[in-house]
Amino acid sequence: MLFKDFGFDNRILKSIDHLGFEEATEIQSRAIPEALAGRDLLASSKTGSGKTLAYLLPALHRVYKTRALSKRDPRVVVLVPTRELAKQVYGQLRLLLAGSRYTSILIQGGENFNDQHKQLQKDPHFIVATPGRLVDHLKQRHVFLEGLELLILDEADRMLDLGFAEAVRAINSAASHRLRQTLFFSATLDNTDVSEIASELLKEPSRVAIGQGYDEHKDIEQHVYLCDHLDHKQDILKQLITGQTIKQAIVFTATKSDTARLAEMIEGWGLKTQALNGNLSQAARNKVMESFAKGQFTVLVSTDIASRGLDIASVSHVFNFDLPKQAEEFVHRTGRTGRAGFKGDAYSLVGPKDWHNFKAIEAFLQRKFDSDVIEGLEPKFKGLAPAKPARKFDKTPVATKARKATKKAPRKASGKERFHDNKQDGFEAFKLPPKRFPTPTDTGDEDA
Ligand code: ADP
Ligand code: MG
Repeated sequence: MLFKDFGFDNRILKSIDHLGFEEATEIQSRAIPEALAGRDLLASSKTGSGKTLAYLLPALHRVYKTRALSKRDPRVVVLVPTRELAKQVYGQLRLLLAGSRYTSILIQGGENFNDQHKQLQKDPHFIVATPGRLVDHLKQRHVFLEGLELLILDEADRMLDLGFAEAVRAINSAASHRLRQTLFFSATLDNTDVSEIASELLKEPSRVAIGQGYDEHKDIEQHVYLCDHLDHKQDILKQLITGQTIKQAIVFTATKSDTARLAEMIEGWGLKTQALNGNLSQAARNKVMESFAKGQFTVLVSTDIASRGLDIASVSHVFNFDLPKQAEEFVHRTGRTGRAGFKGDAYSLVGPKDWHNFKAIEAFLQRKFDSDVIEGLEPKFKGLAPAKPARKFDKTPVATKARKATKKAPRKASGKERFHDNKQDGFEAFKLPPKRFPTPTDTGDEDA
């Protein structure tokens, strides 16, 4: 579908022209008419498929074409889970609003609260926010949402995870106008427990899902390497990251402290590298992301704060140094490459400690990954054996006697048996080999 066929306001068509787009992506073709019709919406499509415009354009149209319900309250609020994504969405919105009389502000943690208060006093039409800080302003009565017309949750499943849900509920109940429309967007909507809050926030929503379940993302080539221990993993990463041409890459780690450690190590391999994590000051976070987006360094090492939504065209490679605990995050992390029709490569390094997460990811994606091997760095690790299910004994005397009679002499498990080929299923409980991987002491971080 072409953008000119949606019946958009001319100002919107001009903005789209400036972006250089003519044809809508599939999710845009399907979601925009629903949103324009005023319906609530649950919309999902793969990473990099243009969801941002799928919600921003109808939001603009509504504001341009209809009278405000309230003169002072914001008309549109977009909620996103991280500050980096808030900045990106806000940047896109600003571009679209350029030259119009409509105003927008960015409300996020880590920035000056009083400055935000002053901006709120100017009654902006659009707010892009991380939820925690918006709730702080609501509590201080710096902003009222009674007149809110459109509430959008980007990365909705992440927004409804523990830690965010309460803030989202508070925003929802502050924005109780019966004419309010609500849109949820994500690449992963049906696999987490979105439905409960969705039923609180959405009224008879339309469902637009592009792609069946978790179809392979055709533009992202997945590679898996099994690793024996931390040093082995680092050696494999070194080969992968220095042995090919990398435009830009993101390396994901489980812990904040690992981002700095790995960044230093990769820098030592001759690639310009910086670390991003929630312990950095907001100014430092902004600087890292701005210079990465400008291509001023090659490798970004980050926790999951960079896993959602970030759209940087020259990210050619993603490396999972550790696998994420939540299977959906695998989809989001690897989706930082292969965007808007470009190709990308994603590498996952799977050690014994990652095995449980790896099997969960395979189950989530309903897909098996073959592993690759680098010559000279062949792994001994072949996967962990699933724990045997606890046997229920029939304790009647007859059964006990029969069992004793057939009991074999105990056998010592050989080293080989601990590892096992990964074709087997059943990933709920594994015995881990002796600890050779450090246990994460700090976890990935997020912005509430
Ligand atoms: P998603 O939110 O689905 O991951 P984004 O909204 O971040 O994807 O869009 C990914 C990229 O695709 C962005 O760089 C965006 O500018 C580009 N894009 C969006 N819509 C179109 C379109 N209709 N034609 C071409 N490129 C588009
Ligand atoms: Mg997005």
